[in-house]
Amino acid sequence: MKKNISLSIPKIGNEVTVIFGKNDKPLGNVLYLEDGLVSESTIGFLTEFSLTPNFQEYKSITGFLKIVKEHMLFRISGEIEFEPLLECVRSLTEFRSKLSAQINCFYTPQSAQEKSISNTFKGSNSKNEQDEWEIGLEDLETYYYNGNILIFDEMIIDSLYCAIPELPLCRENCLGLCSECGEELNLTDINGKLRTVNHKKNCSNFNKLN
Ligand SMILES: [Zn+2]
Ligand SMILES: [Zn+2]
Repeated sequence: MKKNISLSIPKIGNEVTVIFGKNDKPLGNVLYLEDGLVSESTIGFLTEFSLTPNFQEYKSITGFLKIVKEHMLFRISGEIEFEPLLECVRSLTEFRSKLSAQINCFYTPQSAQEKSISNTFKGSNSKNEQDEWEIGLEDLETYYYNGNILIFDEMIIDSLYCAIPELPLCRENCLGLCSECGEELNLTDINGKLRTVNHKKNCSNFNKLN
């Protein structure tokens, strides 16, 4: 397993598109990520959401990252489509949800971060300086690079996390669980098949639906 998902700056040139998980190749300078998004840094996240190929019903993560050099900065835009295994907050049903993560960020040299940090300790005027610097980056998420390599793992995990709903629901009108006996109240399963609701015998709802 590779350590990181990374790209050396000489490979980027002025612009490159990195694609993974699909075969249609856009025009221009294109690199294909052979192992997709699996690395030592991302494997924990991928495993948590059943996104590695050894999980049942796994569907590959597909997407692209377009990297454009702008002086010392690199602007990254892209899209990642994935289907994490989520747990419904109402019924605890596990389900896969097709999600799309939008990527829009900058990579700046590590030295730029050090400059911005040192500014915050300079005194009363420094806050404005830092504000201007941040607005200069159009309020986009900023990541840092060291030397001549861009490392994407953290940025990719951040982007995927952002696309995952905070309170996943297996369906919009999920009925959840019986507050007394814990039986799931949905009349169909996650695939739309009819299911029987079996309240426990000591539940006050037992006779109503059985
Ligand atoms: Zn549910
Ligand atoms: Zn019940």
